[in-house]
Amino acid sequence: MVYNSAFKNLLNSLLPVSCGLCNATTGGHLSLCQPCLSELPFLGSACSTCALPMASTGRCGKCQQHCPTCDQCLALFLYQEPVKFLIQQFKFSHKLEYGCLFSSLMAKKLLSLQEWPHVLIPVPLHPSRLRSRGFNQSWEITRQLSRITGINASHKICQRIKKTPLQTGLKASERKRNLKQAFAVIADVKDLHICIVDDVMTTGSTLEAIAEVLKAAGAKRVSGMVVARAVL
Ligand SMILES: [Zn+2]
Ligand SMILES: [Zn+2]
Repeated sequence: MVYNSAFKNLLNSLLPVSCGLCNATTGGHLSLCQPCLSELPFLGSACSTCALPMASTGRCGKCQQHCPTCDQCLALFLYQEPVKFLIQQFKFSHKLEYGCLFSSLMAKKLLSLQEWPHVLIPVPLHPSRLRSRGFNQSWEITRQLSRITGINASHKICQRIKKTPLQTGLKASERKRNLKQAFAVIADVKDLHICIVDDVMTTGSTLEAIAEVLKAAGAKRVSGMVVARAVL
């Protein structure tokens, strides 16, 4: 098996890469061709604390009324096709090359921040879900972001201590209730700026639940960085 995968890797590195969306040769090691890449739904100006698309900068009406615990949130894309397809391929078909693509684009955004985080952390999966899925997609992006930016990453700061049902299909209030006491901080985070990394943000309830335990444990600042922002 080791031989097979090593051989496959060698073969892949010699063969031209074809675009995951249109099949054209990408002319490098990129997983998408330049035209497909430039047509992806990149998020333009958005709310600084919940990444909701807006015509102006600053905070959206909802965040002005009730300021989130997460101090800022950045999203790379809108959660629309073909980004949905790419994320699903990455998450459920182990197409790790899309994780590389996301993290290299997210790194630019992260490095443009005035205040860089001290440490990047993934949204943790419950150990039983990690076993059934085989990998944590958030950690995959986090560790690559760390490799590119040089910012430390750790999956040992925050743990999921309660197995919660999947959030898909739940209303905002149900998501919040679902996540109550789901996370625990198990390392010293005092005075640190921590950035939580995830693939998709919908209502922001997961980021909020983690930001709350981090702040309660003494974190100075909490940021969120996600691949895509879904707009309900
Ligand atoms: Zn293409
Ligand atoms: Zn907002």
